[in-house]
Amino acid sequence: MSELPPATHVADAAPIAQRKIVHVDMDAFYASVEQRDHPEWRGRPVVVAWRGMRSVVCAASYEARVFGVRSAMPATRAERLCPDAIFTPPDFPRYRAVSAQIRAIFHRYTDLVEPLSLDEAYLDVTHNKPGLATATAVAKQIRADIRAETELNASAGVAPNKVLAKIASDWRKPNGLFVIQPHEITDFLSPLPVRKLPGVGGATEKALAALGIVTVAELRVHPLAELVARFGKQGKRLYELARGIDERLVSPDQPRRSLSAETTFESDRSRVEVAPALDELAARVWRHVATADGAEGQAHTVVLKLKTSEFRTITRSHTPATPPSSMDELAGIAQGLLARVELDESTRYRLAGVGLSNFREALESDAQPALF
Ligand SMILES: [Mg+2]
Repeated sequence: MSELPPATHVADAAPIAQRKIVHVDMDAFYASVEQRDHPEWRGRPVVVAWRGMRSVVCAASYEARVFGVRSAMPATRAERLCPDAIFTPPDFPRYRAVSAQIRAIFHRYTDLVEPLSLDEAYLDVTHNKPGLATATAVAKQIRADIRAETELNASAGVAPNKVLAKIASDWRKPNGLFVIQPHEITDFLSPLPVRKLPGVGGATEKALAALGIVTVAELRVHPLAELVARFGKQGKRLYELARGIDERLVSPDQPRRSLSAETTFESDRSRVEVAPALDELAARVWRHVATADGAEGQAHTVVLKLKTSEFRTITRSHTPATPPSSMDELAGIAQGLLARVELDESTRYRLAGVGLSNFREALESDAQPALF
């Protein structure tokens, strides 16, 4: 009797080292669509934002960015920075239509498309439909198709994984293409400041700087155990990021189960000091609700997340009788949840998040009253 050979694990995806990922990111998408459709706005600063005190900037043209205007900044601040800008409210049905056009282009090359928003997606082009020889050729062709069919510019990054492709698409923005080959990863990452790594925010940057770590090369010197001891779960992520490791697959058409925004404060805050941040987080979440195509239904539950200075995570949720239908309503519920957190007033918080979950078809909730 002969022994059976050990079972071999066969993965569906290509071996990690051989994967070819493209990240496509439209340049100043909403603002560019507005400039395309209003030729008299071309070459001028354009800010896409609703009117109102609590409104945030949805997009800014490159001409407006020269003045320091950025996405997610309060619209009132944008007005102060660039009073001569053309302010226009977002027209999401139009942006969604262009986004659908762009997605159709992606699907000519691969069905492994993971949209991140209306203007951004990961594509796994390890096997591309037209059989182009390289991922770079695919990215070039996609950018050319987008330009020819929508008159808009896209930037693209090509790399062996998602995180590197995302860094790469930003590298030659706007209207650029950048490729990171597997053998170039170490040299490319080494001189970068750690804040260029996705997921490394201001607070982590500071904590790393306190350890004398400014560049990725300096981060790479630190062993995994040390980073985990200092940063917990994020330590492992930092260890991997420093080496350009990212094993996440491109997962097409994920149904939305939740939507959230969170922020880590520069310095820990009291409960009272957390409150203003919730309005801004609610605005960020609501911006995404407005860009969604509605296929996932309406969110019924509002979630508040807090992390104390001792890294204790607290979540509180509330499901109102009718789903929140405006940014103000969402912010109001989040504030109500904060007020009900029963921790001692001396507690300090390092992070706050606002989220929506429990997405259901609008029909389900509408049908309910008819039963009675
Ligand atoms: Mg973009």
